[in-house]
Amino acid sequence: METYKINIEGLELDVHRLNTVIVGSGAAGFNAADSLHDLGQRDIAVITEGMKMGTSRNTGSDKQTYYKLTLSGDANDSVVEMARNLFQGGAMHGDIALVEAALSARAFYKLVNIGVPFPHNKYGEYVGYKTDHDPRQRATSAGPLTSRYMTEKLEKQVLKKAIRIFDGFQVIAIITEKPTAGEGRDAKAVGLIALNLKELDMPHMGFTLFNCTNIIYATGGPAGIYATSVYPESQTGASGIAFESGIKGINLTESQYGIASTKFRWNLSGTYQQVLPRYVSVSCDGTDEKEFLNEYFESPGKMLDAIFLKGYQWPFDPRKISGFGSSIIDVLVYNETQVKNRKVYLDFTRNNTWGSTNGELDFSLLGQETLSYLANSGALFGAPIDRLSKMNRPAVELYKNNGIDLEKEYLEIAVCAQHNNGGLVGNVWWESNVRHFFPVGEVNGTFGIYRPGGSALNSTQVGSLRAAQYISANYAQEPLSKQDFIEVCQAVTAAKLEMARSFMDNRSGTSNVIALRLTAQERMTKLGALIRSLEGAEKGIEECLEDIRNMKVRTKIKEAADLPYAFQNHDILVTQYVYLNAIKHYISAGGRSRGSYLVYDESGNIPLEGLGIQFRFSLDNGTLNDKVCEMVLDADCYECNAEWKPVRPIPEEGNWFESVWNAFREGEIIK
Ligand SMILES: Cc1cc2nc3c(=O)[nH]c(=O)nc-3n(C[C@H](O)[C@H](O)[C@H](O)COP(=O)(O)OP(=O)(O)OC[C@H]3O[C@@H](n4cnc5c(N)ncnc54)[C@H](O)[C@@H]3O)c2cc1C
Repeated sequence: METYKINIEGLELDVHRLNTVIVGSGAAGFNAADSLHDLGQRDIAVITEGMKMGTSRNTGSDKQTYYKLTLSGDANDSVVEMARNLFQGGAMHGDIALVEAALSARAFYKLVNIGVPFPHNKYGEYVGYKTDHDPRQRATSAGPLTSRYMTEKLEKQVLKKAIRIFDGFQVIAIITEKPTAGEGRDAKAVGLIALNLKELDMPHMGFTLFNCTNIIYATGGPAGIYATSVYPESQTGASGIAFESGIKGINLTESQYGIASTKFRWNLSGTYQQVLPRYVSVSCDGTDEKEFLNEYFESPGKMLDAIFLKGYQWPFDPRKISGFGSSIIDVLVYNETQVKNRKVYLDFTRNNTWGSTNGELDFSLLGQETLSYLANSGALFGAPIDRLSKMNRPAVELYKNNGIDLEKEYLEIAVCAQHNNGGLVGNVWWESNVRHFFPVGEVNGTFGIYRPGGSALNSTQVGSLRAAQYISANYAQEPLSKQDFIEVCQAVTAAKLEMARSFMDNRSGTSNVIALRLTAQERMTKLGALIRSLEGAEKGIEECLEDIRNMKVRTKIKEAADLPYAFQNHDILVTQYVYLNAIKHYISAGGRSRGSYLVYDESGNIPLEGLGIQFRFSLDNGTLNDKVCEMVLDADCYECNAEWKPVRPIPEEGNWFESVWNAFREGEIIK
């Protein structure tokens, strides 16, 4: 890496010139850096807004799951069968499904080798369990903090190899070289603009440039667009600046939502539901407490069974609404919080009144599945907290360690955004439509409508390895010369400097960056989360565009330290804008409720008597399952264009050994 200075608009800016920059210090970013180094490309660096930030390091769940090929027992499994299961989720490319399956064992064993404590038996078999959308038992877990262990162990590898890390650098733009008209080639990424968060007070406001041949973009999911979210607070995402530079989105409609606690962000799956907690709501001033589920269910037994099932049917799924299915619980919680503007809590200290006598739950009301699960767990007694302590004491301790005592207090909950199956477009080497730009990990739109639990973590490892393989085989060339780089980066750097200056010129006694963000996030939670409508998406798009256009005048910062937040707000607005456009296009194309969201349909049914007409819905008929929707933003006029493409099938290659060997030796497989 070489470092030099250039002068833009009278400011001396540092430029770092190197082969590959990896943005993000999560499980995907660290694995990309580590793999690239192993493959021989050493002219690399990681840029992160904060080493300890992001989803992988700061999240977890009851039994955080990693999905891979079966590696134990005598059950049949194969790469193609695993690929088929991924592909069957709908709206997913078959060739990508095949790669995810083919590399899963290699990626998994790497994690084992670097010390992630995945359990195996005394014969060395990595036993598995069945997760959602999984016909086998391919899932494994290193406990509630699987993704944290992965990140920490991968970070250790990166540090051991002395890979340069730019810690405290927030990327605010991607620099691309546009092809000239008629040239017949694609745009290509050539660099980045970042804010050095330690130099915001200096005349250059921290502006730092990276002149690089390749970018591996591991910035995670678009967490910052939602108010109600179980993503860790340190995760915001940076998809907006990618859209701004012409990188396409794919399947942006396909996000996952589910019930989680909000003060301490944690998914309430598994035992937290299986012990049958009491769902209560109160008005926003804390009065009028009631057990609101009672108003909708036809019997206490049906209500308790639905709560129980929520334990292993965690993500909201419109197919599980009818007949008092488990996802009706999500709808009812959403109705209390977003429509009635009340607060919802889980109470573990007492049994639901409906179905209890003198506080004792009548277990005979339970369906067979619920009853036998609790009986087998020796938990047919007491209050929910007694059952939770008996069945899963660490689940109680976890909250205690985070300042919430479930033995004494209520737990505030909401239906929260958790994961995006879609994201930025990538091919089978995870390269986007803009050449030399590789989105990996959650920011890549790898998946379609449904995916097996744990496949997101597999994907962080597979995608980052593929990008590293492709770069080391094909993209070793030098970055742009100093002169060429100045020519390409000048306009975009000047535009971002102008934006920063207008924020600085608009300084006032108090900053409104957090307030503006919250307003935008609340819009998305209302109009672009699990309950959607064409009208809502159009309203959101209009409001978003207004906010983008007026951002410079409306933003008031107090000091230079607020600049990064203002730039993040810009990213959030652009991301919302493109995501809402994707929702609009999906509904306009006839798409209805699927995945983890409900689409308003005036001729559909209201899930339960007592709910408003905005919940009228019908299930999607599947005609769009074999298509993906790609979205591209024209940042000059803020127009979003959608293109529906058929999914690519799972490749059927002959795989004759000698043929593959030849192609492999001659580098034919990686062109
Ligand atoms: C509550 C919860 C439970 C989950 N459980 C599971 C599970 O059981 N199984 C499963 O497979 N998946 C699960 N997931 C999903 C999975 O954890 C994530 O998809 C995965 O960790 C994402 O990893 P990543 O490396 O792509 O991104 P992240 O870990 O989010 O890392 C992104 C990195 O990019 C940095 N960054 C972002 N923007 C910028 C910028 N502008 N400049 C510089 N740096 C930037 C961030 O600071 C961070 O370091 C869960 C997610 C949540 C929220």
